Amino acid sequence: MSKTKSAFFCQGCGYESAKWLGKCPGCNNWNTFVEEVIVKGSDKKEKDEWRDYSGLGKQKTISINEVSSAEEKGYLQPMQN
Ligand SMILES: [Zn+2]
Repeated sequence: MSKTKSAFFCQGCGYESAKWLGKCPGCNNWNTFVEEVIVKGSDKKEKDEWRDYSGLGKQKTISINEVSSAEEKGYLQPMQN
């Protein structure tokens, strides 16, 4: 079972509140809050897995060759002016 909680979001500016507000502190509009259910658990797990996967891909893309070539190009040396 995934945990769910609801929060209220202003449709005008996206302001998030734990409880319904008649007037939005963000954009000062009235009655713009709508309740939305936030699903925790399965959604978070999915994102974590996705992030791990992309992180792994990035680490593979940035190889040692790139790092050493960056050093050769003088990234770590002071400006030559
Ligand atoms: Zn607002």
